[in-house]
Amino acid sequence: MHQKLPKEIDPLRLAQNGLKLTGQLAVSEMPRLLQSLATDEGIVDVDIAFDVDEINTPFMRGEFTSKVSMTCERCMKAMVVNLKVNCLLAMVTNERKIEGLAEQYDPWLLESSDDVLLSSVIEDELILTLPLVPRHDEACLPASEWSSADEMVEEAEEKVSPFAILSTLKTKN
Ligand SMILES: [Zn+2]
Repeated sequence: MHQKLPKEIDPLRLAQNGLKLTGQLAVSEMPRLLQSLATDEGIVDVDIAFDVDEINTPFMRGEFTSKVSMTCERCMKAMVVNLKVNCLLAMVTNERKIEGLAEQYDPWLLESSDDVLLSSVIEDELILTLPLVPRHDEACLPASEWSSADEMVEEAEEKVSPFAILSTLKTKN
């Protein structure tokens, strides 16, 4: 069922109230994600729970799934990529608090008390799960017809989102 999600949210307030949000967003509403996609078709299923943990850290647990179309870097044809994100983000209002977060969290830095564009938060998470070098699982072209894989990986790694840099401040696991 298509359910309307709020466009903008106040994450800290949602966490204090322990609210849940479920619904769908169109991939076409995510311009930064679109830069890596072959078409703007696709729907993202969104399932979010906001809450506060036992030591009063506000957090968001989110599950986002989508099927998007990317261009295979080997044969340059479109391919379907299944995206599935499970994230657990702790809200911090100050960069210095990132280090003190419990292990299970990735930091979500809220630099002002302004409302946050919900699609943008989800978009950041989806971008992080995109394959760096999308390629068909099967050998869509004979090996002799495509250039060195290492070159392509290097190229792809240059496209790092600011959110990815933030995530590296706190290593996963
Ligand atoms: Zn291919």
